[in-house]
Amino acid sequence: MTVTPEGTRRESRPVDFINASSLLSEEERAIRDAVREFVDREVIPVAADHWDRAAFPFDLLSGVGELGLMGGTFSEEYGCAGWNNVAYGLAIAELARGSGSLSTFLHVQSGLAMAAIHELGSEEQKLRWLPGMAKCEKIGCFGLTEPEAGSDPGSLTTTAAEKDGGYVLNGEKKWIGNASFSDVAVIWARTEDDKLTGFLVEGDNPGFHAEVLPRKASQRAAWQTHVRLEDCHVPEDARLPGARGLGSTLSVLTHSRYGVGWDGLGQAMDCYEVALAYAKEREQFGQPIASFQLVQQKLVEMVNEISLSQLLSIHVGRLKDAGELDPATVSMFKMNNVAKARRIAATARDVLGGNGILLDYRVMEHMADIEGVYTYEGTRDVNTLIVGQAITGHRAFSPRPPQRAEEKRE
Ligand SMILES: Cc1cc2nc3c(=O)[nH]c(=O)nc-3n(C[C@H](O)[C@H](O)[C@H](O)COP(=O)(O)OP(=O)(O)OC[C@H]3O[C@@H](n4cnc5c(N)ncnc54)[C@H](O)[C@@H]3O)c2cc1C
Repeated sequence: MTVTPEGTRRESRPVDFINASSLLSEEERAIRDAVREFVDREVIPVAADHWDRAAFPFDLLSGVGELGLMGGTFSEEYGCAGWNNVAYGLAIAELARGSGSLSTFLHVQSGLAMAAIHELGSEEQKLRWLPGMAKCEKIGCFGLTEPEAGSDPGSLTTTAAEKDGGYVLNGEKKWIGNASFSDVAVIWARTEDDKLTGFLVEGDNPGFHAEVLPRKASQRAAWQTHVRLEDCHVPEDARLPGARGLGSTLSVLTHSRYGVGWDGLGQAMDCYEVALAYAKEREQFGQPIASFQLVQQKLVEMVNEISLSQLLSIHVGRLKDAGELDPATVSMFKMNNVAKARRIAATARDVLGGNGILLDYRVMEHMADIEGVYTYEGTRDVNTLIVGQAITGHRAFSPRPPQRAEEKRE
């Protein structure tokens, strides 16, 4: 029996084997369901086509902006929804369920650019940018990574020299999402006193150039770019006053990393939901493949891991709401949910057999998209090292060989 892509989507209820929804308030469930409804109606029908053509879904932006997701936890005085972190996370998971490209756009716009302005910006900067960004009328990006500075952003070499009462930025950034159509870029650069500092660079600045990275095999409908800053002049008030040193980038990354943890959960949920529906309908050897023990084992492993991730996600969100979430817990959260999602996507792909590699069934898209998520916001290795340091007290980021006795004497 042929199972069509539409056939895998007849039911649209979030997978919830252990009734994790019972831990949610009515408002949190309503926010989740509203995003789910939007994603089913607007995103899923067009996502595979956008992905295939590597076309950014500009048409969806106003609808996404209406949902309240962007800067969802920031207050209404900045035009944001003022949700709690659990509601924000549930909404991200639903968006990621529909498209890992669109959720990546969200992590850049909301998790990084808006969060940097909200946490580190002046009141004027917040009032100028956040309301438009919340509605996706203004687009932002976040330029930290460089061609030679990835996991180790402290080694970045972009410079900001003081000139004429402002700054001149020079350097290169790699992997910067949204930068080719951004109104504002948060750019991290080293000032003359060797401090990492954040600047707001407007997209039409003649010294700001962004080129989309071609031939990408993950998150094809989101655009990452190579940015060149060539004698890019910005005024003094373009500096984010709260951005001094690497620590200030890390506080923003912690917020974004939190959202990315929920992204892994959302993509895993979609893979499981599609695989379960497919297995119930697809018949081989005269019976639905869902009746075979080996297929059931795969489905059970998926739902088991998803259930644990759901509990962890809600707990981490509650900690964040209580102001008790530390960076190492966020690292463990991101690492867990995304690594599990990676396995779940591969298993779901297997359950769909040959159809699993057809884009219209969406599982292969998630499988490829999760590879990008696995790397950004700290690779699994980097997050492991953060957790390792938290539990042992030893920092193992750049192990040096033990000094030999004769070297010590010299
Ligand atoms: C899809 C996508 C979107 C992105 N969007 C943005 C964005 O909008 N803005 C932005 O600033 N950046 C962005 N990035 C960059 C991202 O943050 C970096 O790719 C990431 O930090 C890893 O850096 P790297 O790619 O240079 O890999 P590297 O740092 O070169 O790492 C290569 C490998 O070495 C391992 N490794 C590195 N250091 C250690 C260590 N000490 N111990 C053990 N293993 C180690 C890594 O885990 C990895 O497996 C994006 C990346 C991707 C893929």
